[in-house]
Amino acid sequence: MKLPIIFAIDDDPQVLQAIQQDLRKKYRKQYRIIATSSVQEAIDSLPEFKKKGEEVALFLSDQRMPEMTGVEFLMQARKIFPNAKRTLLTAYSDTDAAVRAINEVQLDYYIAKPWDPPEEKLYPVLDDLLDDWQSDYRPAFEGLKLIGYQFSSQSHELKDFLAGNLFPYQWLDIENDAQAQELLDLHGKTRNDLPAVVLEEGAIMTRPTIAELGEKLGLQPKATQSLYDLAIIGAGPAGLAAAVYGGSEGLKTILIDKRAPGGQAGTSSRIENYLGFPNGLSGADLTRRAITQAQRFGVEFLAPQEVISIKPQGLYKHISMADGSEVVARAIVLSTGVAYHKLENESLDKFTGAGVYYGAATTEAYAFRGKPVYVVGGGNSAGQGAMYLSRTASEVFICVRRPDLSETMSQYLIDQIGRTPNITVLGCTEIVEGLGNEQLECLILENMDSHARRKVQAAGLFIFIGTKPFTDWIEMDIIKDAKGFIATGRDLGRYADFKQVWKHDREPYLLETCSAGIFAAGDVRAGAMNRVASAVGEGAMAVSFVHKYLAEN
Ligand SMILES: Cc1cc2nc3c(=O)[nH]c(=O)nc-3n(C[C@H](O)[C@H](O)[C@H](O)COP(=O)(O)OP(=O)(O)OC[C@H]3O[C@@H](n4cnc5c(N)ncnc54)[C@H](O)[C@@H]3O)c2cc1C
Repeated sequence: MKLPIIFAIDDDPQVLQAIQQDLRKKYRKQYRIIATSSVQEAIDSLPEFKKKGEEVALFLSDQRMPEMTGVEFLMQARKIFPNAKRTLLTAYSDTDAAVRAINEVQLDYYIAKPWDPPEEKLYPVLDDLLDDWQSDYRPAFEGLKLIGYQFSSQSHELKDFLAGNLFPYQWLDIENDAQAQELLDLHGKTRNDLPAVVLEEGAIMTRPTIAELGEKLGLQPKATQSLYDLAIIGAGPAGLAAAVYGGSEGLKTILIDKRAPGGQAGTSSRIENYLGFPNGLSGADLTRRAITQAQRFGVEFLAPQEVISIKPQGLYKHISMADGSEVVARAIVLSTGVAYHKLENESLDKFTGAGVYYGAATTEAYAFRGKPVYVVGGGNSAGQGAMYLSRTASEVFICVRRPDLSETMSQYLIDQIGRTPNITVLGCTEIVEGLGNEQLECLILENMDSHARRKVQAAGLFIFIGTKPFTDWIEMDIIKDAKGFIATGRDLGRYADFKQVWKHDREPYLLETCSAGIFAAGDVRAGAMNRVASAVGEGAMAVSFVHKYLAEN
């Protein structure tokens, strides 16, 4: 933790040295002592401390200095650190000026020089002032600060990215948090520069892209080797499991994700049915454990980096990324998972990120405290989202087309929802319109039986409906089912094209696609179970087939 600062200034080097020594003797364990003889240097340094999130607890300033008086200096310092205690060091002849300054700059105290012995004339005064300062002091947040508008899709994207990559950050809403405007002013930026990220060392990035921010935060966007045994595309549970097994079994393995590790599971507030965790665990916790485990086995993790194409050339597979770079691997596991379907409705599109969110209950829930929100979807993810939102929102309404949740949600979640007084399930209900100015304010709901419509107040709408695999980018001859899920193993025999593309003596392995050496695992695979445990199981299983494939080539 950064120590608060005691800042001393005196143009006389001997006095400065004496005060510095006395301050260090008594306070150096709890405070950082900074001493300078130059007023200009002092004034220039204060905004830099502020940018880095440091706090000044006490200013001790000489009154008679050539560049400006101590009172003038304290007036300037007060603009930047208004809560710091202000003390003048005065000669006996200056006590009148000091007394006047008590009113002018709300001086807290003046100390007459010399102050010997400090135990009697210095420390008791400063102890008192510092105790007083400490009682109001709340240590500033020391990580990244993200400044933006709450209802902005760019801010939402950055929040999701930081949370997904497990970077602690403080969200500062420019419309509700005075610190946000203060930080912007300090860096000479305006609201047009939002969203902005203030880094720990005090630098600011305005309107950064995910790739720019990722690079600045030390994420690895480029591969270090030219050839890998195994490349895993997608770092959800399936990809992470494949990485742990690939790495631990000696394969030179690279894991690539376009956003962050964890995939859908990473956005889950509580996974309650994963083996071995009787009290459940959060998606963030599972992700943290899994990525640490994979990296411990030497797996290289590349993010944020989107794969846009694969081209097999002989035994090598060339993987192209969105930034133009390339990785070559001998085998691939595709574990790109699924994304939520968009709710096709033009009136809602314009509120995406401004009240309408796809999944993402954990990153935005706090913004809806005390307000009514709606959840669309009847699956487990919608149920979990509703439970999470119910902690902060005034009321949560789950809209489903079916009469109730019994056919689509696990019973344990239905029971939890039944026991939560501020959640209501609205069966046979569709959202037909979203209304609002800058952000979502109301929804029009329609009862599917009676076709009766009603307008309701809604600060947020969280959509968890049907899923679509991330496979549009795969242009090579990989057989997919009618919905775009990747066909594997024996199922491939059912597709008319199979015989034209598969030219090997053996059958495809269980999780192998119709391109030998390219495997699919997890939700992206046709017939997957859509569970964390099954994705993890498939990721692990895929690696055993990778070994067989590599052994025969
Ligand atoms: C909110 C929520 C709660 C859930 N709760 C539970 C639960 O309690 N229990 C349970 O068993 N299941 C739960 N599930 C389902 C479970 O999370 C999924 O079944 C599981 O995450 C699937 O894992 P996956 O690895 O196959 O894919 P995903 O988790 O979807 O991960 C795919 C990854 O691939 C990346 N990617 C996609 N395209 C590319 C590309 N072109 N280049 C690079 N990277 C790419 C994505 O960024 C993503 O990180 C929940 C899902 C959600 C959304």
